[in-house]
Amino acid sequence: MSPSRTAAPARTGSADRQPPLIDLSSGQIVEPLPAVAREAMLRAAEDPRAAAYAPGPGLEELRAAVADHYARRTGTAAGPDDITVTAGARHGLFAALAAVAPGHDVLVPAPHWSHYPTLVRQAGGTPVTVPGDPDGARPAGPARLDAVRTARTRALLVNSPVNPSGACYDADRMRELRAWAADRDVTLIVDDTYWAYGSHVDTGVRPGPHEVVVGGASKVYALAGLRIGWVWADRPLVAAVRETVEHTTGPVSGPAQEAAAAVLREESRTGGTGAAVAGEAVARRAAELAGRRARALEAMAGVPFLRPVPPAGGLYLCLDASRALARRLLGAGDDRELCHALRRAAGVGLRAGSTFGMPGHLRLCVAETDDVLLAAGRRLTTCLTAAASAATDH
Ligand code: PMP
Repeated sequence: MSPSRTAAPARTGSADRQPPLIDLSSGQIVEPLPAVAREAMLRAAEDPRAAAYAPGPGLEELRAAVADHYARRTGTAAGPDDITVTAGARHGLFAALAAVAPGHDVLVPAPHWSHYPTLVRQAGGTPVTVPGDPDGARPAGPARLDAVRTARTRALLVNSPVNPSGACYDADRMRELRAWAADRDVTLIVDDTYWAYGSHVDTGVRPGPHEVVVGGASKVYALAGLRIGWVWADRPLVAAVRETVEHTTGPVSGPAQEAAAAVLREESRTGGTGAAVAGEAVARRAAELAGRRARALEAMAGVPFLRPVPPAGGLYLCLDASRALARRLLGAGDDRELCHALRRAAGVGLRAGSTFGMPGHLRLCVAETDDVLLAAGRRLTTCLTAAASAATDH
């Protein structure tokens, strides 16, 4: 799993060189291309039509492999005609939102991926945040959704495990949300990007007027740079999604699709059905990531003034910064200021919780080596300890 992505430090002169930034702010798992993906790309490159446009909805082989994945995992029949390939899950989300949201409200439970509100707006809708509990531990249920729903509400956008908090929607909660959406003529948009990294239970998924699933190869298959995503929808929505793809990105890169198809076929060869759908590579990655989450918790446990919020799954760990903020350590009055200050003073890159609807928190990506996580914990400890004693001295 991920080698360190530490960036070169900003150099201001030889006298005040700082050690390189430990950048835990982004979220990706970096691994060498799996052999099957490499071979598929090399084969695709030899084809005289390698640089031609791929088919608009995506390569049949990839759509069939994605449909097979969902059919095996959820027990719901799916075929290539139900799948549209997009340029990453984020373009899949955009295309799904553009099909249902224009002129309407989209409920976005907090905390949420930082991009959701802008994606909804760019698709012509209005994002409406659904308040969650402060730690984001329990995703919003029907009562909270009803408190913000109006006649303008057309969709509900959820992801599990939640980026950033790592909270997981369990089977009961998903059942409740499906029933809630169907009863109110709302479309549930399930962002499936992190499916293997939490206790997400999938039976009952039924794409139709009230449910769309958006997934991708970036996180679970560690192929972020290939920009492969997809939408699983029923026929009327498929047509709308494909129209958006045609008028925005056009077809996704053919060789990248060949690689993703090969990886999904490998998953099908080595995986099973239902909860055992993950093939060898995904199961290994999920187990490693569970270890990384535990390691990150340990590395951050002793940092003063920041309290780790144990995640149930996912790629991230959130730190409750309310004690640091109450004392205005490093002069920071909110999580954005604290985030900037820690980047500068501790050399650790984090993300501000308010961009995820989780104010007062900081988010870090756990997909790093033990050494990097421990070094980040030490830097934060040294920096905040010094800041606290400077604050006391004044
Ligand atoms: N959904 C969530 C919740 C994410 O965190 C991300 C990426 N960080 C995406 C979608 C988009 O993934 P991509 O476009 O790389 O497939």
